[in-house]
Amino acid sequence: MDMAVEVKVIKQHLIDPEICIRCNTCEATCPVGAITHDDRNYVVRADICNSCMACISPCPTGSIDNWRTMPTARAYSIEEQLTWDELPAELSPEQLEAEGLSAGDEVQLQAAASAVPQPPSAPGEVAFNSAQYGATTPPWSAAHAYTNLYPPKAPTTATVVGNFNCTEAGYENQTHHIVLDFGSMPFPVLEGQSIAIIPPGVDANGKPHFARQYSIASPRNGERPGYNNISLTVKRVLEDHHGNPVRGVCSNYVCDLKVGDKVQVIGPFGNSFLMPNHPKSHIVMICTGTGSAPMRAMTEWRRRLRKSGKFEGGKLMLFFGARTQQELPYFGPLQTLPKDFIDINFAFSRTPEQPKRYVQDAMRDRKADLVELLKDGQSHFYVCGLKSMEEGVVLALRDVVTEAGLDWDTIGAALKREGRLHLETY
Ligand SMILES: Cc1cc2nc3c(=O)[nH]c(=O)nc-3n(C[C@H](O)[C@H](O)[C@H](O)COP(=O)(O)OP(=O)(O)OC[C@H]3O[C@@H](n4cnc5c(N)ncnc54)[C@H](O)[C@@H]3O)c2cc1C
Ligand code: SF4
Ligand code: SF4
Repeated sequence: MDMAVEVKVIKQHLIDPEICIRCNTCEATCPVGAITHDDRNYVVRADICNSCMACISPCPTGSIDNWRTMPTARAYSIEEQLTWDELPAELSPEQLEAEGLSAGDEVQLQAAASAVPQPPSAPGEVAFNSAQYGATTPPWSAAHAYTNLYPPKAPTTATVVGNFNCTEAGYENQTHHIVLDFGSMPFPVLEGQSIAIIPPGVDANGKPHFARQYSIASPRNGERPGYNNISLTVKRVLEDHHGNPVRGVCSNYVCDLKVGDKVQVIGPFGNSFLMPNHPKSHIVMICTGTGSAPMRAMTEWRRRLRKSGKFEGGKLMLFFGARTQQELPYFGPLQTLPKDFIDINFAFSRTPEQPKRYVQDAMRDRKADLVELLKDGQSHFYVCGLKSMEEGVVLALRDVVTEAGLDWDTIGAALKREGRLHLETY
């Protein structure tokens, strides 16, 4: 006999398109693949979301925490949600009644977990999901992060006080170091946090452009110590992820800014990808391209602390990948850092007449040192860069652990639980 009870009404999980900054955190976090997106909106599939709430706290803006009481049969489809510019209002009691629902109908949270399709995997094989190892809590000794001081509906204005190409490459591969000053507007930040910039103008649908997120590349006391300013590392997007020519709206706007120009900024965002503050804590940074921005912030803060002579830092280890040395942001300044301060490992994937080398290859070369750090509860790992690097990096960490005869499930779970493995890829 079929014991299933018909669910007439649900609390449908929705994302507010007016506030969402399209950062992909929720999609990367959702354990059942209920979130998807197009160029315009992030949306939740009513038939897959099981209301587990895993995506709620990582969302930097709170735009994910919206729920609407809906007749199950009329749940908003993702096609409908993808066209929205704002959330629909709650249905009134009269509207619900008109749908044949009465006050006695029990409201269930979204789809039952049993309806959730599992990701495909070969028989006998468990699919590897790197995102499951990413921590959503900060290290225990992280400083308090302020977030959302300037939300999407109330941005603040910053003035450009610096803008230069920070790679040796030409225009096609330019990455810019941008310095923004907030004047008298308070804008407290920590290393690992990000902001978002609202490009001026409207999109093809005549709607204002949505904000794009950029990691902060400077430490907490300013790009210039004691000033109310921050820096960003922004790469011009001149081709899409498939290599087709395109002119990215916000990255080109930002890279073309002149000193004295004003920009609309929202944020700060991020309350878990934060550095430990306790003495002798180790930091392992793994990045590609502009993923170096938060690593520059953390390195510079540790460098300033070391210079003050009042802080005994642990090890700093950096794995930094780019297509070529010429495309690697801050290559020159990195060379000047003392060897006893930071252990730097480069990997270049497109150096002519050289074999392709990715960050995970560099990590495997240093497995003896990495395994010691992975065993140490004072070690914190940060991964930032293009989405495509994430799985390879987490797999490399797993292999380093496993090859040393240790149990990855135990170590991976501890890294996540203790806020010691952070993944931010885009
Ligand atoms: C948490 C977070 C932190 C980020 N930090 C940084 C940062 O520090 N520096 C930085 O430069 N960017 C960073 N980004 C990416 C940034 O937010 C924008 O997505 C990027 O600048 C492209 O925006 P755009 O408006 O120029 O391109 P769009 O006009 O939005 O996109 C144009 C086309 O290019 C594709 N595209 C978008 N981004 C890329 C890319 N990076 N490479 C190739 N194709 C792309 C799009 O799919 C689209 O087809 C971060 C993103 C997130 C989520
Ligand atoms: S509530 Fe859970 S299942 Fe639903 S979208 Fe968020 S993470 Fe996914
Ligand atoms: S802002 Fe929140 S809802 Fe929007 S993509 Fe990021 S995590 Fe998802």
